[in-house]
Amino acid sequence: MSESPGASFREFDLFVPTPEHALLAQTLHQFVAREVEPQAAAHDRSESFNLALFHRAGELGLLSVTLPEEYGGAGLDASAAVLVCEALASSDPGFALAVLAHSVLFAQNLAVNGNELQKKHFLPDAASGAKIGGLCMTEPAVGTDVLALRTRAVQSGEDYVLDGVKTFITNGGIDEHTLGDVFIVYATTGPERISSFLVEKGMAGFRLGQKWKDKLGMRASFTAELVFEGVRVPLSHRLGQEGEGTLHMMRNLEVERLTLAAMSLGIAQRCIEVMIRYANERKSFGKPLREHGQIQRYIAESFAEYRAARTYVYDTARRMDLRATGQRIDADATKLFASQVGKRAADHAIQVLGGYGYMGEYVVERLWRDAKLLEIGGGTLEAHHKNLAKDLARDPARVRR
Ligand SMILES: Cc1cc2nc3c(=O)[nH]c(=O)nc-3n(C[C@H](O)[C@H](O)[C@H](O)COP(=O)(O)OP(=O)(O)OC[C@H]3O[C@@H](n4cnc5c(N)ncnc54)[C@H](O)[C@@H]3O)c2cc1C
Repeated sequence: MSESPGASFREFDLFVPTPEHALLAQTLHQFVAREVEPQAAAHDRSESFNLALFHRAGELGLLSVTLPEEYGGAGLDASAAVLVCEALASSDPGFALAVLAHSVLFAQNLAVNGNELQKKHFLPDAASGAKIGGLCMTEPAVGTDVLALRTRAVQSGEDYVLDGVKTFITNGGIDEHTLGDVFIVYATTGPERISSFLVEKGMAGFRLGQKWKDKLGMRASFTAELVFEGVRVPLSHRLGQEGEGTLHMMRNLEVERLTLAAMSLGIAQRCIEVMIRYANERKSFGKPLREHGQIQRYIAESFAEYRAARTYVYDTARRMDLRATGQRIDADATKLFASQVGKRAADHAIQVLGGYGYMGEYVVERLWRDAKLLEIGGGTLEAHHKNLAKDLARDPARVRR
């Protein structure tokens, strides 16, 4: 008997599309339960990055799911990157952010935009976690308006000389005294001409500036200012051609936004689970909280929004080509939507738990603080509004595609 045409369509699992994704999901599930969750609260409290856990993630292959196999990666797709970020953020969004900055903003960016020699030299250590990477885009006076950046690179013989300051750089430091290992730095090489460079710890004139302590959330990731004073960067450390930095930036921002949206999914999922359990156990006025209509609304709306966001994020991941650009509409829209869903779910969870929700021991307080970053980092809500309105005006037919 021939299979009905709809059979494979109905069997397709958007969230775990292949056996490789299923294996990854299982590894993540165990790693999160056994190794991430037990340390999450302590690293939030001490505002410290867990280097040993990062190395462990490297051993399990979780830092390199999208990197080509020849450099130590798994050669998987955007759906795999989304699985990693969602799962880690369901327990420890700060740690998830450090992993994302390393594996998506640095390693994946290099895998797409670097040449063979650069990839051979840097990617195996990025895949294993032996070296920690990050991305330097934001500057003290330039965030959303990123094309106005001021860090300059001027060619001098076989080198470029780099001068400028970058701020809010995740993995900029590993601790208060130790610089991260290697960064992609966007700098101008002429009027309206941005280029990308690989800058390594140990290059003269490159140092750790201000360490941002006392952050609202994401405290298990280290955020720092990085200072470049006459840093001589060899020509071999430029990614692509001069002036291609804007393309690198735009291409990488698409997967960055998608994976940040995935982090919001992890936060929402955990908050909903906490709410459901608490509303079943806690009684008021002689019945479980879940029987009170207003509590039902918090749970039901959070769940419906989470499912909608999750479907949109995974459907966008399924279609995303990691080597291409021009996928900005869904990258922006998924993050615009999911980041607010994550924050609202955390807010609802605190409300359902009442006073207990306000206490660190009950987890949702930490997730609520972490959730806010996702409305700012990698593009603010307003930046997404601006991009979406512009892109949709250019291509109104996109609404129906
Ligand atoms: C914890 C953390 C980690 C980070 N990690 C990194 C990293 O690893 N690498 C990196 O390069 N950066 C990183 N960032 C920086 C982050 O991407 C920026 O903070 C973000 O892009 C916003 O830039 P800004 O802070 O300069 O705000 P601004 O751009 O100054 O914006 C301030 C406000 O004005 C609004 N605004 C600005 N322009 C417009 C406009 N045209 N129309 C309407 N509203 C507007 C913004 O939406 C926002 O509400 C991180 C930030 C944080 C907090």
